Amino acid sequence: MSKILVLAGDGIGPEIVRQAVKILDQLKLQGCHLELETANLGGVAYDQEGSPFPETTRKLAEQADAILLGAVGGPQYDDVERHLRPEQGLLDIRGHLNLFANLRPALLYEDLAEASSLKPELVAGLDLLIVRELVGGIYFGQPRAKEIKDGRRWGYNTMVYNEDEIRRIAHVAFAAAAKREGRLCSVDKANVLEVSLLWREIMEEVKTDYPTVELSHMYVDNAAMQLIRAPKQFDVMVTSNLFGDILSDAAAMLTGSIGMLPSASLNEDNLGMYEPIHGSAPDIAGKGIANPLATILSVAMMLRYSLSLEVEAKQVEEAVMQALTAGARTADIAKAGETIMSTDEMGDAVLRAMRTV
Ligand code: NAD
Repeated sequence: MSKILVLAGDGIGPEIVRQAVKILDQLKLQGCHLELETANLGGVAYDQEGSPFPETTRKLAEQADAILLGAVGGPQYDDVERHLRPEQGLLDIRGHLNLFANLRPALLYEDLAEASSLKPELVAGLDLLIVRELVGGIYFGQPRAKEIKDGRRWGYNTMVYNEDEIRRIAHVAFAAAAKREGRLCSVDKANVLEVSLLWREIMEEVKTDYPTVELSHMYVDNAAMQLIRAPKQFDVMVTSNLFGDILSDAAAMLTGSIGMLPSASLNEDNLGMYEPIHGSAPDIAGKGIANPLATILSVAMMLRYSLSLEVEAKQVEEAVMQALTAGARTADIAKAGETIMSTDEMGDAVLRAMRTV
């Protein structure tokens, strides 16, 4: 029996996670041994339990085989102290479970080529994987502060990595590239940052373990440009926490909508937290119009990476593709004149396709 902890979170989180749970329930009907539990994370956890990552959630997360997350955050928490903010709950659970490897595929579905902000010929067939280091770098480095010194206001953070942190993310990226086209591009800022010089050095060292993978290096500013200029040149990109945060959102737009992209965050034991890459979208929360496909595709990644259910993972991905081919569209991916589905209707369209693939 695999235990899945479901954390719906805030904003559109509950609406989109409901659709993903429909898919998991269907898999149970098909004979998969899945046990679902729910808990709070983020703003809802702060409201109900006084902490964005409460003890109850921590315990259930430690016992789970995989975690499904909607999203956290919202403007109502803007004035809450930083350590109690919803986003801190997310950083805490990632850190607590040591989810150091963030895998973000950017795949362009043929039926959505026109939804991309780039010309269809530049993006048609795009299939890119960004591997982002998730529990180190500038988001966690010490010292960090916003303070008054010498009568002036200062703000600072520290971008720091040790060689072990770089080596383990390198192994994840090389292993992923070896299973794909065998091309890995490591993104850094080695022309300016010492931390990037070490990053590059370790990437070169790990390369010797993966003779079939071709390694290249690119500065992050150029990588941002190349992603927009000719994104299909990339197979797998590996980069640090900050650079990965920015590049993966740029890659998201190449595929048409942030509502289409899943992600996996894994630790060394393959425990993973799976979530759409977008946030809680407070501007559309409660309206029933959010695209649930990124969350449903996150379920597919969960089946593949944490539960070793590859056949079922493909079934979910195939069902999403079929639903899109049949014309299922939420507002964010619809062209003018196309019929628009609600979040719930899109979930049902994928569920129907699941039953036929
Ligand atoms: P966002 O990703 O929530 O929204 C950006 C834009 O994309 C909005 O216009 C939104 O309506 C749209 N959008 C997002 N998901 C969509 C979906 N599934 N379907 C259709 N449209 C969608 O980013 P934001 O507005 O910068 O942040 C909102 C809140 O989410 C903030 O509190 C932020 O801190 C939080 N956040 C959380 C996560 C997470 O939980 N992993 C990630 C990013 C941001």
